[in-house]
Amino acid sequence: MSASTHPPRIKLIQLDGALPNLGLMKLAHWHRAHGHEVLVTRSIEPDLFEGPFDRVYGAAIFSFSAEKVARFRQCYPDGILGGTGTDNTLTVEELLHVPAYEHYSYEGWDVRYSLGFTQRGCRLRCKFCVVPTKEGRVRSTNTIADIWRGPSHPKHLHLLDNDFFGQSREQWQARIEDIRTGQFRVCLSQGINVRLITDEAAAALASIEYRDTKFRERRLYTAWDQLGDERTFFRGVDRLAAAGIPASHLMVYMLVGFDPHETWPRIWHRFNAMVERGIRPYPMVYDRTRADLRRFQRWVVTGLYRAVPWSEYLGSMRRETVELRLGHAINEQQLPLEAMPD
Ligand code: SF4
Repeated sequence: MSASTHPPRIKLIQLDGALPNLGLMKLAHWHRAHGHEVLVTRSIEPDLFEGPFDRVYGAAIFSFSAEKVARFRQCYPDGILGGTGTDNTLTVEELLHVPAYEHYSYEGWDVRYSLGFTQRGCRLRCKFCVVPTKEGRVRSTNTIADIWRGPSHPKHLHLLDNDFFGQSREQWQARIEDIRTGQFRVCLSQGINVRLITDEAAAALASIEYRDTKFRERRLYTAWDQLGDERTFFRGVDRLAAAGIPASHLMVYMLVGFDPHETWPRIWHRFNAMVERGIRPYPMVYDRTRADLRRFQRWVVTGLYRAVPWSEYLGSMRRETVELRLGHAINEQQLPLEAMPD
């Protein structure tokens, strides 16, 4: 770190992700607690007038951020880059040489809610997921009181738990009790594990103010990633419904482009089965090189699927592409015909 009389200057660059990056928030807290000057930004390129930094950190959580990761490395050859979207597996705690660090600085991130984990880890081991390797066995981490920033902030909690009900029954019951009695609104955007949901857990969820990421609409998030899980998935949906959580409150992540044997009819089967039940599907594209899947994702998440048939949507995309090509505007990839529904 700098030998000058000025406090060390630290730059934290969040390369991707809509939510504040918790790793960077921890680093921001640690450096600020040590009297360092900290700048938080999403811009990779150095600003002309920002001056030199003693240390630059970057964080990326998605593998499709590879270009940004490369640009970061180019701009800051000595920078420290981490996160699941990089090949660096070092945790913030290992970087700071401390056994645990659960303090976050929110300065530099424009959010009003409080963010955190009540638990880490997951009981399941889905092949495509980094959580079991990165977080290991399920364990409780923070209470609601630890996560909430206090009375000057809204009673809005954005919990990043991957398996809320994976922690011990006593622990999840205590968290639910604190949420209920504290009258918190809670967003569980990483999803609850619907395949393992019990009647008791479903009733607990029904008793709290679960909300979407804007803390407005009633919404619970979960996933149906593999066609073979259909029975257990809908058993969980039925348990939630019996507890008073209608399927229309569910937003369900559906992984596409991971299984090499996946076909469009299989994708349509999952999609249609959910839509018929009033569930909102949310495709997650594993293979980002697949333009057809990216278009499917856009058609679904924008809600266009309710108004415009897929074939018409694809047709309009084709016309747009041709027009753009004629105008030499972009070199768009040809739409694959296999993207057409049966
Ligand atoms: S249930 Fe979710 S968090 Fe757990 S391993 Fe599967 S994808 Fe990952």
